[in-house]
Amino acid sequence: MTYDYRCFFSKGGCGNQMNVKHPMAEDPEVLCPECSKVMERQLFPTKFKFHNNLFGGISGDEPTRFIGKI
Ligand SMILES: [Zn+2]
Repeated sequence: MTYDYRCFFSKGGCGNQMNVKHPMAEDPEVLCPECSKVMERQLFPTKFKFHNNLFGGISGDEPTRFIGKI
């Protein structure tokens, strides 16, 4: 899996962002190559939220059927 890590201004970082590849089960501490602050992983891309809104709010009761319609 490739994850998007960001170095947040709000945490004293420099705003840098980069992709880090590691297994899903792992949660490594990623240090910014620019300023050596700890970077934060972006868990879910915004497009997942967009899909839920597009289909009028999915309850979560039938996730399999929801995927099958696409
Ligand atoms: Zn940084």
